[in-house]
Amino acid sequence: MTVKLKIDGKDIEVLEGTMILEAARQNGIRIPTLCYLEGLTAYGGCRMCMVTIGKSPKPFASCVTPVSEGMEVITDSPGLREYRRMAVQFLLSERTHICSVCVANGSCELQELANELGVDHVAFEREWPRLDVDSTHSFLVMDRNRCILCTRCIRVCDEIEGVHTLDLMHRGKESQVIIDLNQEWKESSSCTSCRKCAKVCPVGAIYVEGETLSITKDDQIARFIMERREAAHEE
Ligand code: SF4
Ligand code: SF4
Repeated sequence: MTVKLKIDGKDIEVLEGTMILEAARQNGIRIPTLCYLEGLTAYGGCRMCMVTIGKSPKPFASCVTPVSEGMEVITDSPGLREYRRMAVQFLLSERTHICSVCVANGSCELQELANELGVDHVAFEREWPRLDVDSTHSFLVMDRNRCILCTRCIRVCDEIEGVHTLDLMHRGKESQVIIDLNQEWKESSSCTSCRKCAKVCPVGAIYVEGETLSITKDDQIARFIMERREAAHEE
């Protein structure tokens, strides 16, 4: 069954159950995202894909809000841009993001969004805790100081690689990505060293030592693998 709605004034028709973000993308309308990755379960954590619906004063995360008949969605407005600018500034104030000394400089989705939204300063006080950098793996490095807690690495490790080496410890801004039961990477008994976490990390928090992130990164990897699996099931 299909559903008719309007996104940015454009009449569209999509399958019932489609999320607003996917409906927009299927119709050539771009909504900025950070934590969302096609092929992984949507999480709705980064608040970048916020949209407004009808007259509701409250914005909604489009990656986890399904379409409904007659819905009128706005994906871009001065208010939404300001909301996204604030969300980017919160991220920049919570962890150390100095682009000039980051391995992801030039290949960073947070940096790209900040540039796109015109974030040239941070209006909030910096917190910047000193967090552990794990470089004990033979080629993978995790720098928690760069992490934006998008959980892409956790979801790809669990849902695509199927080993669930990574997870979150603590809550809110105290959260940290951990390896197995908060062990060093070299001690992990579950990690297959597949690199998928480094491929999907949007910033410079997980990377392959000695490899530029423009080579490592592949934000299509989850979708690619899911499509291959679905095709194999159909054969
Ligand atoms: S390398 Fe693969 S198995 Fe190891 S933590 Fe990353 S995604 Fe998980
Ligand atoms: S390490 Fe990277 S992918 Fe994982 S939660 Fe942090 S920013 Fe996201």
